[in-house]
Amino acid sequence: MSKLEEYQKKRKFDKTPEPSGSEKPKNNKKGLIYVIQEHHASHLHWDLRLEEDGVLKSWAIPKEPSTDPKVKRLAVQTEDHPIEYATFEGTIPEGHYGAGTVKIWDSGTYELIEKNENKYVVNIHGKKLKGIYYLIYFKPRWGVQKTLTGKEEKKNWLFFKKKEKQ
Ligand code: MN
Repeated sequence: MSKLEEYQKKRKFDKTPEPSGSEKPKNNKKGLIYVIQEHHASHLHWDLRLEEDGVLKSWAIPKEPSTDPKVKRLAVQTEDHPIEYATFEGTIPEGHYGAGTVKIWDSGTYELIEKNENKYVVNIHGKKLKGIYYLIYFKPRWGVQKTLTGKEEKKNWLFFKKKEKQ
């Protein structure tokens, strides 16, 4: 199954200006894509995207990402997006998935410092966000949902900046 199947199923590419895209080979060079898009959908949110294994891992953040380490933002994981999405800006028409305007809020590159199934530690080189950020998975109080294949569905994460050393 393509990593982009869910992304492509949700959209009609003759109706939306979004790219249909395709999975790319793994990027072995330094400087993986980092982008946050401000998405004026039914609820304004910020979409964090990080390049990983030929696609953009994606999280929807309901409040503006913060450079203050004390401010932890909920980041709800969404479907993988194609690499082409990193430069997308435009208006998704009324009545279509994600209807509303998308514009780039911040962009640049990142390095993966550490990763396991419940955590990403990334060094972000953006214009607004710079330095070490964490994405930490947390289990919902009502228990972890399973996908159809029985895998744990990891949806809710926290996104925040690392505290500077005193
Ligand atoms: Mn969005």
